[in-house]
Amino acid sequence: MRTKIVVGNWKMNNTIAESEILAQELIAALGENFSGCEVGIAPTFLALDAAGKAIEGSGIQLVAQNCHYENDGAYTGEVSARMLTAAGCSSVIIGHSERRQYFGETNVTVNLRIKKALSEGLNVILCVGETLAQRESGVTEAIIASQVREGLMDISDISSLVIAYEPVWAIGTGKTASSAQAEEVHLHIRTLVAELYGKEAAAALRIQYGGSVKPSNAAELFAMPNIDGGLIGGASLNAADFVAIVKAASH
Ligand code: PEP
Repeated sequence: MRTKIVVGNWKMNNTIAESEILAQELIAALGENFSGCEVGIAPTFLALDAAGKAIEGSGIQLVAQNCHYENDGAYTGEVSARMLTAAGCSSVIIGHSERRQYFGETNVTVNLRIKKALSEGLNVILCVGETLAQRESGVTEAIIASQVREGLMDISDISSLVIAYEPVWAIGTGKTASSAQAEEVHLHIRTLVAELYGKEAAAALRIQYGGSVKPSNAAELFAMPNIDGGLIGGASLNAADFVAIVKAASH
C-alpha cells in the first residue's frame, strides 16, 4: 500500500511574508486532516527559511523547486542540493516542464541534478510529461520513456524517488487529463520502472499526477490505482483549495 503524497509547487509566487502567511493558513486549515497522506510545500528559494519555520512540527515537508548539480562555485543564480539540505528541505522537484521549456533543462542535466540531490540525502520528485504536439503525434509513451530512462541513468536506488507525471498541455491551462488518460500513462511509467528496477521497486514507487488538479477533480484522479497523489500548482496558492485536494488524498 503506497502512501499518497500531495505537494504544492508555489512556483515564482509569494514574497517571504506572503509565503509565511500562506504556510500558516495551511497549517490552520489542515489540522489533523491529512492522516494517511504526505504533504509538502515548495516555496521559492528565498522563502524556504520563513516557510520552513512556519511549518516546523506540523508534519508538512519543505520542498525546493530545483537544485544545481555542483556543490558550490561559479554558477550565478543557482542553489545547490547541499544548501537545500542545510536549509531544512527534505525533497526537491527536478525536471519540471517549466525548467525544461524556459531554462534549457535536458534529460542529461536532470539526471545530474537527481544524482546530486540523492547523494545529499534529499528525496526527489522527477517530473515527466509530453507536450500537446507530442500527444497528438502519438509519441507520448516514447517521450515519457526517454525522460524516465535518461533522467534515472546510472541511478541504482529509487527508494527516495517520486515521479510526477505532468502532461505539459494540462499545466496551468485548466485542461486536466481525464483520470483514464492519466492512469494509462501512470501504468506505462510503472511498467517501465519494473523493467528497469524490478517489480518490487516499481510497486513501491509513488507516481503523482500534476496538471490543473482542483478540488473538483482531485478525488477522481486519486482514486485511480496507479495515481499516488498530486503535484499541485495554481490550486496550491489558495489554502482552502489545497486542503480540499489533500483531503481527497487522505483517508
Ligand atoms: C505544476 O506546475 O506542477 C502544476 C501541476 O501546475 P497547475 O496545477 O497549475 O497545472
